[in-house]
Amino acid sequence: MKAAVTPISDSPSSNPDELRGLARLQDARVTKGTAFTEEERDRHGLRGLLPPRVMTMQHQVDRIMENLRAKPSPLEKYILLVALQNRNERLFFRTLIDNIDEIMPLVYTPTVGEACLRYAHIFREPRGLFVSLDDLGRVDQLLRNWPEDDVAVIVVTDGQRILGLGDLGANGMGIPVGKLALYTACAGVHPHKCLPVVIDAGTNNEALLADPLYLGLPRKRVTGPGYDALVDEFMQAAAQRFPDALIQFEDFESSNAFRFLKQYRDRYRCFNDDIQGTAAVTLAGLLGAARALETPLEEMRILFAGAGSAALGTAGLTLKALMARGLPEHEARARIALTDVDGLLTTRRSDLAPERKVFAKDLPDGGLLESIRHFRPHMLIGATGVPGVFSQAVVQAMAEHNARPVIFALSNPTSRSECTAEQAYSWSDGRALFASGSPFAPVEINGVMRRPAQGNNVYIFPGVGMGALAACASHVSEHMFLRAAEVLADQVYPIELEAGALYPPLRRIRRVCRDIAIAVAQQAVDDALAEPRTRTELEARIDSMTYAPHY
Ligand code: NAD
Repeated sequence: MKAAVTPISDSPSSNPDELRGLARLQDARVTKGTAFTEEERDRHGLRGLLPPRVMTMQHQVDRIMENLRAKPSPLEKYILLVALQNRNERLFFRTLIDNIDEIMPLVYTPTVGEACLRYAHIFREPRGLFVSLDDLGRVDQLLRNWPEDDVAVIVVTDGQRILGLGDLGANGMGIPVGKLALYTACAGVHPHKCLPVVIDAGTNNEALLADPLYLGLPRKRVTGPGYDALVDEFMQAAAQRFPDALIQFEDFESSNAFRFLKQYRDRYRCFNDDIQGTAAVTLAGLLGAARALETPLEEMRILFAGAGSAALGTAGLTLKALMARGLPEHEARARIALTDVDGLLTTRRSDLAPERKVFAKDLPDGGLLESIRHFRPHMLIGATGVPGVFSQAVVQAMAEHNARPVIFALSNPTSRSECTAEQAYSWSDGRALFASGSPFAPVEINGVMRRPAQGNNVYIFPGVGMGALAACASHVSEHMFLRAAEVLADQVYPIELEAGALYPPLRRIRRVCRDIAIAVAQQAVDDALAEPRTRTELEARIDSMTYAPHY
């Protein structure tokens, strides 16, 4: 019999407004550090505990940025930012929002990948909830330990497929923590309403199992009924403890990702970001590319390299978008082909699961290069997790029959990208319309500066989440993602499209997320997944829910 867990949620220190002196200065939720005013220093017993000069929040942001830029590596910068979040929450989010271009690649991909790899070695303080196999039968008690009662968004991973880095076990906690920081920074979900969760079912990563500092369960990953029972118990307990929360699945291995989505999408308010978020952001990029090429999407052929969760999710949503534009289903299917590690998905293959079989083509078998020659795609989307899959021959084959080949190398982190931005541009004589999953620096080709687009899920999930919450949608539907993709594609100004951008600049992200949230909430209402509300009411709800970090 497992020992009961004593809940801490009613501990006396949980009201930060009553804190005084050093306790107030050191509480991340309420501290202002050197920005406490003269009056506040008297009122809260802080006099003498701070240097005398009262600073502004802007001074503090400037100091953080100076320190951040002086750090020698992205990982060191990440560690500084985590420490800031633990020390002064409002300052962390102010700094992140005001410097989103510079800091997003640190708190999220690509640096978060390295941070997950090194998690046990850079660990300072826990953040989030760890639900392990040892907790089977008492997950509800664990959830009662979470100090906040009003949780709006839960991001959960089991660490089995972290970015393109594989099984990182409990080290995967970096992902929910990073995604939730972006929920707050981009859509304004209050940080106290965010709950990062790792489901620790073990790991098959030998290096982690051999590492004496590894912090997760040091045992092989459990699969089958034991694993399913843990996930299921978590879902039930989370929905009971936080009935209004939206649950976002992140970085589960592909077959589990599909399985859980199918199992839970009609039971809980949940979605899978790798499948649905990636699909929407990629579709928005395709719609943007179609706008740039002045050719309707329904006239394009699209080939995916990879047939995992990212590729299949995108193929499915693209199919819906093509049908929404008037193509009959069989014609829409004919415009989408996929390849996996064994080559093109063809009608002759007997190894295809139903969700893959529906895209099988009656074309000759072959690898990626042969598939390009036979299918003649206008758009090539890489979601393989394998660097170098877009070889020079592949890019040139795309450039042979397209004046402006559309090439998306979505695999994360940067080291896994199917090709680099420079390769896509140089191998296509600068003609490619390129987007990637991780950021690439601008490239000068033939004297012209090209700015690679980044198909980052952050354009989608915070806005979709906020929209679902604002509408109190019972479920998150495919229509809501389709709508999000369309709204995102329309956020790119014509002048930006001309320069090769397929997504709006990150500095407009809060505006973009708000517009997506409004459209998604409206879609939920239109689909009868939420109570009827006018657009003005939905806008007002979203604005009143939006957190802005000020003292
Ligand atoms: P997955 O493991 O489910 O799928 C990988 C697929 O690639 C499999 O179908 C496999 O057969 C195929 N593959 C492997 N080698 C191949 C090759 N040489 N040629 C063709 N296909 C090959 O992984 P996933 O969840 O689909 O993620 C794949 C990648 O997409 C990851 O690197 C991930 O970081 C990235 N991703 C990007 C975004 C984004 O940019 N927005 C979002 C989610 C995932």
